Amino acid sequence: MIQFEQVSKVYPGGQKALSDVNFHLKRGEMAFLTGHSGAGKSTLLKLITVIERANAGRVLINGHNIADLSPKDVPYLRRDIGMIFQNHHLLMEKSVFDNVALPLVIEGFSHGEIKKRVHAALDMVGLYGKERHSPVMLSGGEQQRVGIARAIVNKPPLLLADEPTGNLDPKLSMDILRLFETFNDSGTTVLIATHDLGLIARMKYRTLTLKQGHVLGGDELPSSSTNA
Ligand code: ADP
Ligand code: ADP
Repeated sequence: MIQFEQVSKVYPGGQKALSDVNFHLKRGEMAFLTGHSGAGKSTLLKLITVIERANAGRVLINGHNIADLSPKDVPYLRRDIGMIFQNHHLLMEKSVFDNVALPLVIEGFSHGEIKKRVHAALDMVGLYGKERHSPVMLSGGEQQRVGIARAIVNKPPLLLADEPTGNLDPKLSMDILRLFETFNDSGTTVLIATHDLGLIARMKYRTLTLKQGHVLGGDELPSSSTNA
């Protein structure tokens, strides 16, 4: 589904963020992307969502080189990607319902369809009945679940998460990862960027490790990095 071939990214100021990165995320797979702060995790995700573009190499999504996308194609690509952020980017003056409904409103779904899908998404993340609440009234873990419901509400085939558990305690973090696991079980491809090695070690998924923009030792199973 996602393929990086010798991808490099240098920011306009000259900062090297990724160097000669190769990796392949297969359809239906769930994997972690790890490395210290500044290693290039966010940049890699931004290349997939075309927020940034590579200086060298090829980024392929479903076999298509995204360098060939015209600016008007980019929104269509992004519709197929659910994005989850550390600070969840919720609209605090809007209700939980309106936050989750946002991607569907943008896509022009009918009122009835929006209601049905928002309720289904909130049900999946365990927030059924909280749709009229303001996100301000929710705990950090619940706010993150609202962000996740918004990311999955239009059933994207690909979920990308950038430090989704960064502000949560270990128990809540594990709950969030279990949630990603259920989406993956139903066929969604999932890539999770996190520097939380303890969390990764508790789950058996492929891990891509970045160090100063380079991929370390190819793809490794988490069992080989449990002592980190
Ligand atoms: P992360 O938590 O992923 O490490 P940061 O806090 O480093 O993210 O960065 C937050 C935002 O600032 C990101 O959008 C990132 O691309 C951008 N950013 C990071 N470093 C720089 C930099 N040196 N110059 C400009 N923008 C940066
Ligand atoms: P991570 O997500 O692993 O913390 P990032 O991808 O945010 O890493 O950053 C990789 C490197 O690129 C860092 O050195 C960061 O400072 C730099 N960087 C990130 N975004 C920008 C930006 N918009 N402009 C300049 N440098 C950036």
